[in-house]
Amino acid sequence: MMAASALPRMLSKGLLGRKLVGITPLASSVRNLNLLEYQSKELLDKHGVTVQKFKMAESAEQAKEAVKTFTPAEYVIKAQILAGGRGKGTFDNGFKGGVHLTKQAGDVPMLVSSMAGHRLVTKQTPKDGIMVRKVMVAESVDILRETYFCILMDREYNGPVVIASPDGGVDIEEVAEKTPERLRTVPIDIHEGMTEETARDLAAFLNFHGELQDKAAAEIQALYRLFLAVDATQVEINPLIETPQGQVVAVDAKIQFDDNAAFRQKEIFAMEDSSESDPREVEAAKHNLNYIGMDGNIGCLVNGAGLAMATMDIIKLHGGEPANFLDCGGGVQEEQVKSAFQLLTNDKNVKAILVNVFGGIVNCATIANGIVNASKSISLDLPLVVRLEGTNVNEARKILADSQLPIKTATDLDDAAMKAVASL
Ligand code: GDP
Ligand code: MG
Repeated sequence: MMAASALPRMLSKGLLGRKLVGITPLASSVRNLNLLEYQSKELLDKHGVTVQKFKMAESAEQAKEAVKTFTPAEYVIKAQILAGGRGKGTFDNGFKGGVHLTKQAGDVPMLVSSMAGHRLVTKQTPKDGIMVRKVMVAESVDILRETYFCILMDREYNGPVVIASPDGGVDIEEVAEKTPERLRTVPIDIHEGMTEETARDLAAFLNFHGELQDKAAAEIQALYRLFLAVDATQVEINPLIETPQGQVVAVDAKIQFDDNAAFRQKEIFAMEDSSESDPREVEAAKHNLNYIGMDGNIGCLVNGAGLAMATMDIIKLHGGEPANFLDCGGGVQEEQVKSAFQLLTNDKNVKAILVNVFGGIVNCATIANGIVNASKSISLDLPLVVRLEGTNVNEARKILADSQLPIKTATDLDDAAMKAVASL
């Protein structure tokens, strides 16, 4: 099943509801900025949300150093992966649980080395799990109660919505299923924001009373401010807990970000851990290209998501297999054409390139120059089929013809797909 978190990305790329014959890796390959728990908590801390003190370790040696720097009554050791359900997970070495408590500082290095360098399988990971590189060593908090608190941008409400439950913790899915009345959905007016009154109501629903209600309401308002400040699409705290000492603490955190805000959240996007991503997609993102790798051998360069989808469909119709979905956007520039060509030729599976650009905003001659210069500068030796249409197309055709390069031009999409398949 597709992870629920992939859904908004699919929508934003217009990939949802499309019948993609035989193309399965789409859901998992869509870019989606998620941060690890420790990175999310650094952001929470910066925005005034109460979190536990922690250090990071990647080995037993680093864990030994970490415990020297702080000595709580109890430590909590947590494997860092981009998936939840860690507490109930199992490692490939048989070690059980991605979240462990210990009062012995001397046990911490052993716990860290049981997690680091091993794959952790949880109900939210792929079957063979996710490799753990980093482990959080934190001061443990005593837990009286666990609640659930989440803010997300919701299409249905056209704005932020809070989902909250007094029954948080590792069984939240079960709560949603069996006692849905224990979950509350509260839309927030984006202009009004999270008022003190709403924050108090939510805190009361979460069973925080008296002085604790003030504290919980303050945490909720801080979480909302963070949600807006970092352009999050989702801030999920499960659990948001109450301690016997009368504190409210965010014990787990998962934040997702709006990719469209990358330009004004540079620091956050630079924290992306791309070790779990397709390197082709990571490289493409650097050049503002929307790239999704696939299994075929025809590399496509297209402007606009709709045209990209149509191109892939028509290639398949003519018996070919696309090697990728590459949308260079409506405002494609010469330089991007070059980056795209580099990306395509670096992919050993690509045996032919099909360029399909519709010049609405862009000038076809600009693209033609990009194609010619890119082909020359990287000494392209793959068959290249080009279909250009739209603004200044005659000038563009002349540029391609004058280049003396062995470029096959096509008159329409069908013709282009047929020529690309035939060139293999
Ligand atoms: P998840 O399993 O990936 O959601 O990881 P969490 O960070 O939510 O931890 C799972 C569960 O472990 C929580 O719901 C808590 O019950 C427990 N837990 C996590 N941190 C602590 C802690 O500092 N102290 C105590 N006593 N329990 C903790
Ligand atoms: Mg959790």
